[in-house]
Amino acid sequence: MVVGEEVRSVAPGDRVFAPFAISCGYCEFCRKGLHTSCVRGDAWGGDNGGAQGEYIKAPHADGTLVRVPDRYADDESALEALLPLTDVMGTGHHAAVSAGVEAGATCIVVGDGAVGLCGVLAARRLGASRIVAMGHHEDRMDVAREFGATETVTERSEDAIERATDLTHGGADHVLECVGAASSMETAVGVCRPGGTVGYVGAPYGITEAGLDVFPFFGDNVSLRGGIAPVRAYAEELMADVLGGTLDPSPVFTKRVDLEGVPDGYRAMDEREAIKVLVEV
Ligand SMILES: [Zn+2]
Repeated sequence: MVVGEEVRSVAPGDRVFAPFAISCGYCEFCRKGLHTSCVRGDAWGGDNGGAQGEYIKAPHADGTLVRVPDRYADDESALEALLPLTDVMGTGHHAAVSAGVEAGATCIVVGDGAVGLCGVLAARRLGASRIVAMGHHEDRMDVAREFGATETVTERSEDAIERATDLTHGGADHVLECVGAASSMETAVGVCRPGGTVGYVGAPYGITEAGLDVFPFFGDNVSLRGGIAPVRAYAEELMADVLGGTLDPSPVFTKRVDLEGVPDGYRAMDEREAIKVLVEV
């Protein structure tokens, strides 16, 4: 690793991780913890060459990269638990924070992908006492229970809404929407208690396509908060818990590939064979 002349926070030989978005660390939005709106921000790809390779070019290293303390630099299990902080764990946490999850809360997590599962973990970490996980895959519901879900709902559409609403006696004040599809947003607002909040973090391609009906939000004064997760803002606090041994999102990695195996990794995720794939270089 080489670093540019003006880089101060990392040095050659350091172990680092990088969030999915590049940020400068000092503009108005980085300072308020909204690194994904950085005025100098970028994504991995294009001019910087992308990030799935043996070497990467990291613009704005001081504002983007997170240095792993030396004593954990070669600790494989710690590194595997830290890797989700670059994306899915930070995103699940953003869903929980956006939904206003707090100690003793009852919450519902819609979606059983890596982000939804990390949302369960984040809700538990924030002290939720009751966490209902909603999804369609039994194996993923096992991970949800391992992560702290107290109940799971595997029914679909109206049946799922009815079941989750029954379980929580009228819905939860805090709902994490972790998919980004029109159906999952309908489910999220459907299981939200009047006056409650939906925290949404799934890229809303499907919602945009279908159009979002805001009347269910209007009728029950349900708030919609969230958006693309500024995972850089959460990196240090989540890393402290991972290294302290109280947070471990690594079970979302259910398959490993080398660089040549990356296309197979994407296929496995697409066909729901794998939750998240770890690439070993
Ligand atoms: Zn910035």
